[in-house]
Amino acid sequence: MAKMVYFDRVATALLAPEAKKAVANFMNDSVGNPSAHIHSAGIAAGTYVDKSRTSVAGLINAGVNEIFFTSGATESNNLALKGFLSEKNSGEIIISEIEHYSILDQINNPALDRFDIKTLKVDRNGLVIPEKLEEIITDETVLVSVIMASPEIGAVQPIKEIARICRKHGVTFHSDATSAVGYIPIDVKGLGLDMMTFSSQTLGGPMGVGALYVNSTISLNPLFDGGNQEMGFRPGTENLPGIVGFGAACQAISPMMADKSSRLTELGRKLWRGIEENIEHIEFTGHRESRLPGHVSFWHRFVEGESLLLHLNMKGVIAASGSACSSNLKGSDEHDLRASHVLTAVGVPEEYCSGSITFSLDYYNSEDEVNYVIDILPEIVHRLEAMSPVYEDYMKQREKHGR
Ligand code: PMP
Repeated sequence: MAKMVYFDRVATALLAPEAKKAVANFMNDSVGNPSAHIHSAGIAAGTYVDKSRTSVAGLINAGVNEIFFTSGATESNNLALKGFLSEKNSGEIIISEIEHYSILDQINNPALDRFDIKTLKVDRNGLVIPEKLEEIITDETVLVSVIMASPEIGAVQPIKEIARICRKHGVTFHSDATSAVGYIPIDVKGLGLDMMTFSSQTLGGPMGVGALYVNSTISLNPLFDGGNQEMGFRPGTENLPGIVGFGAACQAISPMMADKSSRLTELGRKLWRGIEENIEHIEFTGHRESRLPGHVSFWHRFVEGESLLLHLNMKGVIAASGSACSSNLKGSDEHDLRASHVLTAVGVPEEYCSGSITFSLDYYNSEDEVNYVIDILPEIVHRLEAMSPVYEDYMKQREKHGR
């Protein structure tokens, strides 16, 4: 199989053909600045933005005036937390222990020292237990933020239940749904979300554009000063090509999403079973059922995740080890070798965190590709095991004890 088998959708999905076409058409059109709505070129640009906003809102059942375009999920997470908290003097914030760094780093920033931070633990399957939230939420809590689905371990949280508890206590609830939107059906109203982060690139749109859903009852301050774009929430001229592609990707996913995502679930299950039946010394991470469609993640006791990735890459297969977003240390080209906080949260011993692998499939992936990975993976793992001194010791012990 010469072509690339791309199983790293949660880092970025490949550009959907519909998004590619929409961006190309836009680039060939002569449009002005959407803020210049006094002339036809500005009005034409504004029409592109409106159309995209409608498609993006439609995918998650939001009102069109509840979608704010940003530069991506990192900015959306910053707008949600900083924008919401800027007018509050004190209180408690509750976040799960498996948030993305764009939430965690804000919480650890001294700028939020005026708030008490509480952490919501997850169980060994990576799931928040709603009763635990009930135990720690108080009259002082101003904001709860829980990631909808972990890109690393695939676990999908009981968001509706968490939202119900927040609502009961009058607490604003934000969820980072970057890995989930477009792959599991999301109805922000039905789920009871106040704010939700998502991005274009993880669902087949271009990079560098994202969105924040903000329920019309919630008030926020913008992160930046300088203009009235995005209904005053996000000044600066919009990234029009990005927004156009984002809208087209959302529109392409919307029809038959439930069917498409159940096919993806089946492919993921097939891959899971193929790995389970053919490879020893592994443990899967995340919940077996409550997980992203097409997402399979595990760790191996004797094999480095990065070595596995490189060998897979030589065979044309692209996957991830740990979190794609944190594989480089801040401000350097060096790889971050610290154990992932997500893996340690679900009980993976620190010394084994480097053995983690994540496959995240997309709608266009085929059963043949899954079969190919199931075929080549055992041989790669055996080759790497043979190079591991720890594995050699383990095998000697096993022989000695006759097992
Ligand atoms: N949140 C989650 C859950 C993510 O997986 C990512 C990275 N894909 C981000 C936030 C940050 O996204 P971006 O780099 O597009 O800002």
